[in-house]
Amino acid sequence: QAQAEGGRLSRFYTPELNGQLLEQFQLEQALRHGLEHDELLLYYQPRVDIRSGEILSLEALVRWNHPDWGLIEPGRFIPLAESTGLILELGPVVLKAACKQIKAWQASGVPVVPIAVNLSAKELYQDALSAKIEEIMADASVDPQQLEIEITESATMHSVNKAVEILSSLRSLGLALAMDDFGTGHASLSYLNQLPMQTIKIDRSFLVKIDVHTEEPAQQGATIVKAIIGLGLNLGLKIIAEGVETLPQRDFLIEHGCDVAQGHLFSLPLPADKIEPLLRAGSVPTTLH
Ligand code: C2E
Ligand code: MG
Ligand code: MG
Ligand code: MG
Repeated sequence: QAQAEGGRLSRFYTPELNGQLLEQFQLEQALRHGLEHDELLLYYQPRVDIRSGEILSLEALVRWNHPDWGLIEPGRFIPLAESTGLILELGPVVLKAACKQIKAWQASGVPVVPIAVNLSAKELYQDALSAKIEEIMADASVDPQQLEIEITESATMHSVNKAVEILSSLRSLGLALAMDDFGTGHASLSYLNQLPMQTIKIDRSFLVKIDVHTEEPAQQGATIVKAIIGLGLNLGLKIIAEGVETLPQRDFLIEHGCDVAQGHLFSLPLPADKIEPLLRAGSVPTTLH
């Protein structure tokens, strides 16, 4: 067939592309297999009171523990899961795992905090999303107050009217909603006001830029972070800064009114058994003062 099409096809069908497609296909098969064989697990990253280090909630971040390849970060497989539709199977696996963890911690007397779960665009716009989430919570006997949903700003921008409707139905289940990666998705202010979010998360890319005070990008980052905090506070939203790595970043956030943060300065994302002692202690070990 390729022969018959002659030069036209060969222009596109290079050995490299062939290799890439094969690799994508193998990865997809492996992920499908992994989903069926319990290879996905959750890490948790504390969201803390920026001054005291008290743990206020956790964000669940999925990992894929492949028997040969080891632990794989979501950046490597979530985009593929999205483009193949496998995300519609992965999403419930993640939500169920978070619910199961909440129950396990409750059963062993660990002081539990709410767990935020990420939802990607394809999950958001699927049919009957809120009914599916409601069913998973009911099966696990987990209250909506124990969970939160994170949706990226760009996902809400796909189809704003639909997003408003879907998010409102999640909201009426009693779930708290956070807008992830805020500042990167070009949401207009009027939309932000329409979306029933309680929290915005300042994208890490802006935080990275407020470290070096003398450089031009540093100034830009600082200006944007200040603007987002001001906007959020004016709209009565909670604000979480993500990707906080340094003391100057933390001090800057405190100075400008952001009270909650997440990042390597406080804690890496950790597996459940490593999070448990932190939950028992109530805060991250702090070297901040
Ligand atoms: P996100 O939701 O914006 O999660 C924050 C990411 O920043 C996480 O990467 C986290 O490990 C990382 N991070 C946190 N603090 C720091 C820091 O101080 N410095 C640096 N350099 N990085 C930090 P991770 O775990 O690789 O996840 C990447 C993305 O994958 C997430 O971004 C989210 O969009 C997606 N994702 C993760 N788990 C799930 C899931 O269960 N479902 C869906 N749909 N997406 C997920
Ligand atoms: Mg997130
Ligand atoms: Mg984020
Ligand atoms: Mg992100």
